[in-house]
Amino acid sequence: MSSALDATDVLVVGAGVAGLACARDLAAAGVSVRVVEASDAVGGRMRSDRIDGFVVDRGFQVFNTAYPQVRRRFDLKELRLRPFTPGFLVHTPNGRLTFCDPTRRPRTLPDLLSGRLAGPRDLAALGLLSARDMLLPPGRLKRRPDTTARTAFADAGISEEFVERLFRPFVAGVFLEDELETSSRVFHLVWRSMLRGTICLPTGGIGSVPRALAAGLPAGALRLETPVAGLTDHGVLTAGGVEIPARAVVVATDPGPAAALLPEVVLPDYRTVTTYYHVAARSPLGEPTLLVDVGRRFLNTCVLSDVVPSYAPPGRALIATSVIGRGGQARERELRAALAEAYGTGTDGWDLLTARTIEDALPVMPPPHPLTRTTRVAPGRYVCGDHRATGSVQGAMASGARAAREVLGDLRR
Ligand SMILES: Cc1cc2nc3c(=O)[nH]c(=O)nc-3n(C[C@H](O)[C@H](O)[C@H](O)COP(=O)(O)OP(=O)(O)OC[C@H]3O[C@@H](n4cnc5c(N)ncnc54)[C@H](O)[C@@H]3O)c2cc1C
Repeated sequence: MSSALDATDVLVVGAGVAGLACARDLAAAGVSVRVVEASDAVGGRMRSDRIDGFVVDRGFQVFNTAYPQVRRRFDLKELRLRPFTPGFLVHTPNGRLTFCDPTRRPRTLPDLLSGRLAGPRDLAALGLLSARDMLLPPGRLKRRPDTTARTAFADAGISEEFVERLFRPFVAGVFLEDELETSSRVFHLVWRSMLRGTICLPTGGIGSVPRALAAGLPAGALRLETPVAGLTDHGVLTAGGVEIPARAVVVATDPGPAAALLPEVVLPDYRTVTTYYHVAARSPLGEPTLLVDVGRRFLNTCVLSDVVPSYAPPGRALIATSVIGRGGQARERELRAALAEAYGTGTDGWDLLTARTIEDALPVMPPPHPLTRTTRVAPGRYVCGDHRATGSVQGAMASGARAAREVLGDLRR
């Protein structure tokens, strides 16, 4: 074994948003903290790469300004956010429908009232569900009985037909599953944040979010390219054979390494997603909005360069389309056909820039789903990440914050 590094109060393993949020809170409380990250940059599942002048996020995802952890931690101006238009488009065999909260975009009111999207009963039921989710204090939403999202829509009086046309394709893109089996509690909280906030992308790519968190760490606290191989009685052992002593260790890795480092922790199953990035000579849409498919041949698609022009070099359009599970050539061919229909334009001339498959993208969240769980595993050992809360940026950072509170409480005791 090589020589030990300086001791620290707390060592955080993993520089995703959970680990970074945890480390920021610990440092703010005056505790000495070090973050060790296996890869060459921070961000974990929220990273962006540059390929041939395009910004490519490691799987398409969006940033919601209404998440409580987002509001608490970020200067939104600094992230230079570009918004999607509120609402989304639904591709159906009979044409494209626009779904939007009419209080945000009054121009979409005639679409809503035309009856093409839903009849008056469904619209009234949807209005009531949305008003409740938006206006009730979050504590009330959290205490409501937990069922599946599908049961919640039925309980709200929304017809199966409307669920199939609107919610099923949309929710599939949010939870990466198209059976509506995710916890209703989680759905209501996410729906609330969508109604109250704005869906955006940072100009520099989704990776700007963890980079902004890391920028607030004390100088020298972050060590990249330092995978942790195991926990010891006194801290951790890196894959390079260096022991780093610490009074407390917080494992903030993705689920695979977390299971290896802390075999006693029970982890949920995870969902896999693939995002295809296509390049076209011009935007097939001309609008910064999400498009979902009632046939569910893809989860969602959007022209990223319509949202953030600098995602593509001048004169090119970058289109991101996600599908459940792993990709492959045959799947990409089928996808092109579906996209040609959805965008109403030929896709044969599009180039495939790259595809990103994320095996452990989001935890499965069946009901009853605890929104937060203790991070304590054993004396001096903690675990945090989206698997301890909800599969989202909010959940990951909230879990990191909880780990920091529990560590601080224990150290002070
Ligand atoms: C394609 C996709 C789309 C998504 N869409 C959304 C969305 O629209 N909205 C939303 O809110 N959320 C979305 N999410 C979820 C969100 O990105 C995650 O919940 C969140 O980023 C998880 O953060 P984390 O810190 O828990 O884990 P991670 O980001 O996985 O971070 C774990 C870190 O630990 C490091 N690590 C692993 N092993 C070791 C080791 N042995 N030693 C040291 N370091 C190690 C990893 O390299 C990584 O940096 C999406 C996720 C994906 C993948």
